[in-house]
Amino acid sequence: MNVEWLLLALAPVFLLCVAWEAWWCQRRGLAYYGLRDTLCNAALALLHQGADKLAWVFVLPVYAWVYQHHRLLELAPGWASFLLLFLAQDFLYYWFHRASHRVRWLWAAHSVHHSSTRMNFSTAFRQSLMYPVAGMWLFWLPLAWLGFPPQQVVGVVLLNLAFQFFVHTQTVPRLGWLEKVFNTPSIHRAHHACNPCYIDRNYAGVLVIWDRLFGTYVDECDSEPCRYGTVTPVNSYNPLIVTFHAWRALLQDLIRARRLGEAVQVLFGPPEATERRPPAPVRDRP
Ligand SMILES: [Zn+2]
Ligand SMILES: [Zn+2]
Repeated sequence: MNVEWLLLALAPVFLLCVAWEAWWCQRRGLAYYGLRDTLCNAALALLHQGADKLAWVFVLPVYAWVYQHHRLLELAPGWASFLLLFLAQDFLYYWFHRASHRVRWLWAAHSVHHSSTRMNFSTAFRQSLMYPVAGMWLFWLPLAWLGFPPQQVVGVVLLNLAFQFFVHTQTVPRLGWLEKVFNTPSIHRAHHACNPCYIDRNYAGVLVIWDRLFGTYVDECDSEPCRYGTVTPVNSYNPLIVTFHAWRALLQDLIRARRLGEAVQVLFGPPEATERRPPAPVRDRP
């Protein structure tokens, strides 16, 4: 099997999990699922898969060129080098994900994943077809440069994404000591929440050690239930509007910029510095 088809090959497992979770929620009267939200997630997954397949056609030769002509190390194939590749990719994923929240250009693509106000397995499908344009593939380029074969790089990138499907659920409670090492549903629920105490925390892919190491870890607290969604809501179930609304806003702010410095800030500054956000709700005085 060509490794690029890994996620599609796992689709039956993912769909079974979604069906089980939807049934589980219905039995308990929990409104974790919404039909229009789930259909929108499914459409976004198909668009993302299409864009991804197309992108690999262009990106793999770039990885191959770097690997063939500029690789740093001669790594013997085997479990040790696979483990090293997994660790290196998960480390780079942490920085890709952190940059995706702190750089508006990357946030324009990543915000799609965060734009649902619900959290369930189908939320994992909610991805942007614009990732290749935003430059996600650049973050894995150092792996080819280090000396990992391009097909293995793609395989590990997709394995990491496949693992992350399972952390998108409200049906799994906290998992004790596992949360010291691995990204878990509880850790990722906090990542998807827009409560101020949870924003820009828990960027982990598979291992949460990077968040603990670089000071971005937060626990999910019972006293602060997660509110899902983005600070700037999309309010649409149309997958194209969901995909492009942040890019449209970015372009509008770019056109409005009067100086080069302002334009650079719009493109590469933190989203909250230039994004026009709805006014904070006025609190009644006691
Ligand atoms: Zn995120
Ligand atoms: Zn997520």
